[in-house]
Amino acid sequence: MNIEKNINLSEYTTIKLGGNAKYFVKCENTAELKRAFEYAKQNSLQTFILGGGSNIVFPDSGFNGLIIKTSGNEIKIISESNESAEVFVSAGTEWDKFVEWSVESGFTGIECLSGIPGCTGAVPIQNVGAYGQEVSSTITKLHTTDKTTLEEKFFNNTECNFDYRQSIFKGDLKDKYIITGVEFELSKIKEVNFKYPDLKREIEQSEDFKNISSRTGKLKYIRNKVIEIRKRKGMVVDEADSDSISCGSFFTNPVISYEDYKDRLKRFPEFRLINSFSAKGGIKLSAAKLIEVSGFGRGYEENGAGISTKHSLALINKGGSSTALIRLAQKIQTAVYNKFDITIQIEPIVA
Ligand SMILES: Cc1cc2nc3c(=O)[nH]c(=O)nc-3n(C[C@H](O)[C@H](O)[C@H](O)COP(=O)(O)OP(=O)(O)OC[C@H]3O[C@@H](n4cnc5c(N)ncnc54)[C@H](O)[C@@H]3O)c2cc1C
Repeated sequence: MNIEKNINLSEYTTIKLGGNAKYFVKCENTAELKRAFEYAKQNSLQTFILGGGSNIVFPDSGFNGLIIKTSGNEIKIISESNESAEVFVSAGTEWDKFVEWSVESGFTGIECLSGIPGCTGAVPIQNVGAYGQEVSSTITKLHTTDKTTLEEKFFNNTECNFDYRQSIFKGDLKDKYIITGVEFELSKIKEVNFKYPDLKREIEQSEDFKNISSRTGKLKYIRNKVIEIRKRKGMVVDEADSDSISCGSFFTNPVISYEDYKDRLKRFPEFRLINSFSAKGGIKLSAAKLIEVSGFGRGYEENGAGISTKHSLALINKGGSSTALIRLAQKIQTAVYNKFDITIQIEPIVA
């Protein structure tokens, strides 16, 4: 185990923010992860598990403990039938490498989750979703280790309490378990998915897609299309695109009851401008639109923190600090609250 000292966390996060970690170690498998936690216990160090650093804002003061970074690459078919494949993926495996592998294998279920940065161990935490798919619909089992006892524990899908950008690991069991691996059930027979409006429109217009007959060919086309759309929105990490120095969406879309929806329509004339969709628990509102109508447009910037020029939901680092970014986020939250009496929640983890 190679424990490094004084490692700059901004180099390990997609938003390129955060001070130094006092100690830092990379772990490829469950045994290494356990050893790192044992070391932390023996030396009374606080710990933080880091995947790809794409959904985290570390403070400018850094982390006064041991950062345990998952790494490695393991994708293994556990069982297979004519209809489906059960696949184990280790926590440190890059998520998009697994999506690519699944598409190349002709398996459906995660193709619309192409281009999302980070590691596979983190995808259950906020039930990663995009373009009409959520990872929870394919997860069958989580392999975890209790951070305190270092005992192994498995969670089935129901036990994870998945919801929109939520799971038990963001709620009651926050920071209690290390996810060491994830099992997925991928389909060999289900139709490829492109029901999400933006994606559907572009795919239905495409003559190329109509001419593709093979399942893998269609899956590859959808994956490429998703990545193309995401790039246009600055939602693929790309050194050449300063709008992608972000954590992706910085706020979740709020869900309010139908009564609250009618109430806001009555109280605030501009509420009509906010796109809304029916969702579990009521009406889901576009956080991007709430932000824009509350006075924070694309390209807004203050103290080196800003809003992407391509997507008003993505806060970006323009050479500022975590403090400036969080201040901007809070300013946006206050503006939306003052304008519409609605609280928008921050999506990334603020450590
Ligand atoms: C450009 C861009 C686009 C994005 N697009 C999307 C999108 O479309 N949909 C979406 O849902 N998200 C999106 N995200 C957010 C992010 O990519 C996902 O949430 C991703 O799953 C985070 O993975 P990570 O490995 O980077 O996690 P990290 O940022 O490293 O960690 C996030 C949290 O998970 C915890 N964690 C990480 N690994 C483990 C583990 N093995 N065990 C226990 N806890 C762990 C960490 O402690 C931390 O609390 C985007 C981000 C960016 C930068």
